[in-house]
Amino acid sequence: MSNGSISTPIIDHRVGGAPWSGASSRTAPVYNPATGAVSAQVRLAGAADLDAAVATASAAWPAWRDASIAKRQTVLFAFRELLNARKDELAAILTAEHGKVTSDALGEITRGLEVVEFACGLGHLLKGSYSDSVSTGVDVYTLRQPLGVVGVISPFNFPAMVPLWFVPIALAAGNAVVLKPSEKDPSASVWIADLFAEAGLPDGVLSVVHGDKEAVDALIDHPAVRAVSFVGSTPIAAYIYERAGAAGTRVQALGGAKNHMLVLPDADLDLAADAAVNAGFGSAGERCMAVSAVLAVEPIADALVAKIAERMATLRTGDGTRGCDMGPLITREHRDKVASYIDIAAADGADVVVDGRDVVVDGEPGGFWLGPTLIDRVPLSSRAYTDEIFGPVLSVIRVAGYDEALAIIEAGPYGNGTAIFTNDGGAARRFQREVSVGMVGINVPIPVPVAYHSFGGWKASLFGSAKAYGPQGFEFFTQEKAVTARWLDPSHGGLNLGFPQHD
Ligand code: NAD
Repeated sequence: MSNGSISTPIIDHRVGGAPWSGASSRTAPVYNPATGAVSAQVRLAGAADLDAAVATASAAWPAWRDASIAKRQTVLFAFRELLNARKDELAAILTAEHGKVTSDALGEITRGLEVVEFACGLGHLLKGSYSDSVSTGVDVYTLRQPLGVVGVISPFNFPAMVPLWFVPIALAAGNAVVLKPSEKDPSASVWIADLFAEAGLPDGVLSVVHGDKEAVDALIDHPAVRAVSFVGSTPIAAYIYERAGAAGTRVQALGGAKNHMLVLPDADLDLAADAAVNAGFGSAGERCMAVSAVLAVEPIADALVAKIAERMATLRTGDGTRGCDMGPLITREHRDKVASYIDIAAADGADVVVDGRDVVVDGEPGGFWLGPTLIDRVPLSSRAYTDEIFGPVLSVIRVAGYDEALAIIEAGPYGNGTAIFTNDGGAARRFQREVSVGMVGINVPIPVPVAYHSFGGWKASLFGSAKAYGPQGFEFFTQEKAVTARWLDPSHGGLNLGFPQHD
């Protein structure tokens, strides 16, 4: 971090529909992970900056709350069209700051676009219910109303998709949003906010405030912030959940993961090997739904490991703009931490089948490179198994049968995603019912639900009862009001102090 005396470009906040520098002079470097060079300095907001952003959002909110469904829908449709037409621009930003390869960046945007399209159906999703004549001359109906100013705090690994999980739905529901993106790759959020402005969103309804812990704490502590959606690592998610909850703020906090892929002996091993490679190394393993542990049920482990290694030999690691399969990690520090798990696993007795430190890279030498790594026979006691590594390191654990595999998954602290590979429908059905994980794939390795279902894990992968997007997203960003109405009927006048009953 520096004191702001810098020559590289500055990434400003977006408050009130315009770039804004705020009062804090703190900044942090943003890197191009494929070169290792600092590409910009991002501002780090202080509590006074958050105050100003929330005040702007609070002032803009009533008019947006009162905008008709048709007006809000017009903005969302316009945003959808603009995003679809200009997604290449956003993909280039993702590659430049996160490092993910272009095809992966476009995939992330497409999954975000799905949520925008879902949010365009706000007319249906905000419908209340109506009961006619619950008592003589009395009707009961419900309204879904927005909360006010809501905060969204996002992680580095999906700089576009995670903001798009929440922002379109919060806005469609009539809230004003303050978005605090990851300070590691903040430009995607700025681009999204500018695109919303172009789509006709009134100034102040969506702000982007950059920052670190100081900004996050100020956002979740702010008394005018009515709800917080957080996505990030489990320790921070637990902290946010507790702190926001103690303040009486509605909160959903999605945390980390350690996802298992169970391969039964009857599985199609080519399909399973493709899936393990795609889900293990896509986005350099920096996905909360990445497969990080393959549970290979004997006797197929040797064959599966060989097939995975064979495929890994064909992967190209390098600059995301050069048509490579896998890009760099987010920072040098994270790259070194991920690489350290290779030594940890080896010291704990595992077999390093493919060591990503030996990779030949199609990119600049200063990039934060680590190639795909495969480690077999990882002991369950090793930190290479118990920690969320969040990098291109795939572990294989050999098990004797389904029950042993299920017990391993159940013993873990996380419950984000899992997958079973089998041709046995009975086994798959048993697994989907028995496993304590929020999102289950059957012959599908990254089971991220489509936008009209909701996304979220169990256990330490989600704190709070509401999942992200889908119907639960609309529930999270609204509060229901029940109205009991009687229009004037003189026959029902008179005093009665008893509890209301229906006749
Ligand atoms: P992170 O927890 O370090 O940061 C997430 C956000 O919290 C960022 O905006 C960051 O600025 C802020 N933050 C960081 N430290 C903080 C602190 N001490 N106090 C308050 N705020 C703080 O996570 P990350 O490294 O950006 O993202 C990777 C993690 O996110 C992984 O654990 C991954 O599994 C998880 N993730 C989960 C999901 C999910 O849906 N469950 C999705 C994506 C990522």
